[in-house]
Amino acid sequence: MKDLSTHPCFNKDAHHKYARVHLPVAPSCNVKCNYCNRKFDCVNESRPGVTSSILSPDQALSYLIKLVKIMPELKVVGIAGPGDPFANPIQTMKTLHLVRDNFPDMLLCLSTNGLNVAPYIDELKELDVSHVTITLNSLRPETLAKVYSWLRHDKRGYFGAQAGEYLLKKQLEAIVKLKKAGITVKVNTIIMPGINDHEIAEIAEKIASLGVDLMNTIPLFPVKDTLMENMEEPTPDFMKSLRKKVEAFLPPMTHCARCRADAAGLLGKDSAEAAKLLSETALL
Ligand code: SF4
Ligand code: SF4
Repeated sequence: MKDLSTHPCFNKDAHHKYARVHLPVAPSCNVKCNYCNRKFDCVNESRPGVTSSILSPDQALSYLIKLVKIMPELKVVGIAGPGDPFANPIQTMKTLHLVRDNFPDMLLCLSTNGLNVAPYIDELKELDVSHVTITLNSLRPETLAKVYSWLRHDKRGYFGAQAGEYLLKKQLEAIVKLKKAGITVKVNTIIMPGINDHEIAEIAEKIASLGVDLMNTIPLFPVKDTLMENMEEPTPDFMKSLRKKVEAFLPPMTHCARCRADAAGLLGKDSAEAAKLLSETALL
C-alpha cells in the first residue's frame, strides 16, 4: 500500500526520513527557457551542475534495483530531466512502466514544463503516478515573452511571446486534466527579479482555483551563458515574503533543495554511493 505522505517534497515532515531518486532518462527539451543552459542542467529542478550520466530505461531499472539495496529509505522515484520528461516520452513512459512492474509500492513522480504531458495523463493514472510538478512562470503575455525563446510542439516551432502563450495554455489544460485524474500537483515558479517577482499572488490565486496542491517558488539561479546570467539571485528574505503571499491561496513549499536531475538520497543530502552506482550503471 502506497503512503502518499512519505514524499519528501510534498510533506515537510517526511524530508529528513525518506529519500527520493531522480532517474536521468530524459535528455532533450522541447522548450527554451531563458534561464536554462542544459550544458549545466535543468534549472526547473536542479542546481547548475552537469547530470553525471544519462541512462536508458533498462539501465535506469538496473540502477534502481541496486539502489534500493543501499537506500532502504527510498520511497519516491521521479523523472526530472535533465531535459523534459515529455520531450522524451518513449524513454519516460518505458522507465515508468519498468519501475511500476518491479516496484509496485514505489511512489512515482514527474517534473515537467507541461507542454506535452496532457496526452499521457490517462496512462500516468493507470501507472498510479501520484505526484506531478509543472513549472509555470507567468500568466502575462508580456512576461512570458521575456522568459521563453522558443518551443517545439506537434512539428511546429513557436517563438517569443507566442511560445510563452502557447506553453501557458498547455500548462493550464494539463493542470485541469491532472487534477481530474486525482493526481497531486505542485507548481514550481522560478522567481526572476524584475520579470515575474511581482506576479506571484496572481499565479497563486489562479492555480489554487484549479485545485493545485502546493506552490514552490524557486529563486533564479543565474546560470552562465544564458540571457539571465547577470541577474541577481533573490535573497532568502525576499523569498520568505513571496511564500507569505502564496500562503493566502495555497500551501507554499518551504524546503526545496533545487535538486539535480540525477539526485538520490534525502533532500539536500545526496548520496555519494548512489552517484558512484549511477556512473557505474551508465557504463554497462
Ligand atoms: Fe531547461 Fe527545463 Fe526549461 Fe527545458 S524546461 S529549457 S530543460 S529549464
Ligand atoms: Fe523536491 Fe525541490 Fe528537489 Fe524537486 S527540486 S525533488 S521539489 S526538493
